[in-house]
Amino acid sequence: MIKFNVPPFTGKEQEYVIEAINSQKLCGDGEFSRRCQGWFEERFSFKKTLLTPSCTHALEMAALLLDVGPEDEVILPSFTFVSTANAFVLRGASIVYVDICPKTMNINPEMIEAAITDKTKAIVVVHYGGVACDMDRIMVLAEEKGVYVVEDAAQAMMCSYKGKFLGGIGHLAAFSFHETKNYTSGGEGGLLVINDDRFIERSEIIREKGTNRKQFFRGQVDKYTWVDIGSSYLPSELQAAFLLAQLESADEINDNRLNIWKGYYSSLERLQESGLLELPLIPEGCAHNAHLFYLKLEDMEQRSNFIQFMASNNITTPFHYVPLHSSPAGSRFGRFHGVDRFTTSESNRLVRLPMYFGLRQEDLETVVDSVGHFFNS
Ligand SMILES: *Cc1c(COP(=O)(O)O)cnc(C)c1O
Repeated sequence: MIKFNVPPFTGKEQEYVIEAINSQKLCGDGEFSRRCQGWFEERFSFKKTLLTPSCTHALEMAALLLDVGPEDEVILPSFTFVSTANAFVLRGASIVYVDICPKTMNINPEMIEAAITDKTKAIVVVHYGGVACDMDRIMVLAEEKGVYVVEDAAQAMMCSYKGKFLGGIGHLAAFSFHETKNYTSGGEGGLLVINDDRFIERSEIIREKGTNRKQFFRGQVDKYTWVDIGSSYLPSELQAAFLLAQLESADEINDNRLNIWKGYYSSLERLQESGLLELPLIPEGCAHNAHLFYLKLEDMEQRSNFIQFMASNNITTPFHYVPLHSSPAGSRFGRFHGVDRFTTSESNRLVRLPMYFGLRQEDLETVVDSVGHFFNS
């Protein structure tokens, strides 16, 4: 069986996790957490980063920091994971879904503009597969209209847009270290990036159960007390230790994935030229991280046949998001603004090929051959 995903593992994780155990300091914000956050701040020049138990939690923190409430609307693509919306629904906001650009599956800036009202508090962009949204247009629009931008960069570590690292463009951003992402902190994990100074102090308070514990430890205040709403948004040192090992091999992991991606692309280009399928498009100025390799087939029926055919060849090829606006909760908590021209039709024909750090060349060839056989049969 060729799996769709295998969590990345470098070998160094065990050593660091044991070191964390031996340090007898396991709760959040210890040495390993500091080293991970330092790595992100140095490598990507992010102003402030905080490890979280998941990307979902980082998005929830973003919603708290922006004071999102029941009067507010939040604009986002319907083609995304539930957490992109749920984090804001938890604050009582209404979700406004807009259509995507079919070539990238990313939110369409023109549709955002049409959906903005006086109630709009934030735009949440999702860099699908680590390919950047049209951030120049989105940031200009947000500035003009006075709304915040949150980057759901769950899939987008190591990626850039016109020389700027993803996660460093919006007011806030969230990364995921779930085992299905390019880097993992041992199964679950995330990171909040704070790019706007106004949110830095409060982000530490919200993450520490609404207390000023961090300022107290730094000697900035003489009492440690409850000052704001908050929750427990710290991962343990075991997770940070696991992650640090992967950060130290970030380039090796990224290069390996990009090679696999290029291998798929060059082997399948011929089928695209024959008009049998479509391959992902990487717009000018975007450096991606090979988070996904997807194909677009004719329609849902052909895709079902494809998934079945690949499964009969022991290859797992899952489809991806069912658009949120067509889910029971998604329609209850939000509405689609404008016409669903591409969201449903494009998501119905998208299918993903096995993609993970260390995927063997011979397995890649087996996958490519099977795709070819599907179209020949
Ligand atoms: C994976 C993912 C999330 C959720 O990440 P967790 O770390 O599992 O909470 C959110 N948004 C997008 C786009 C994702 O791909």
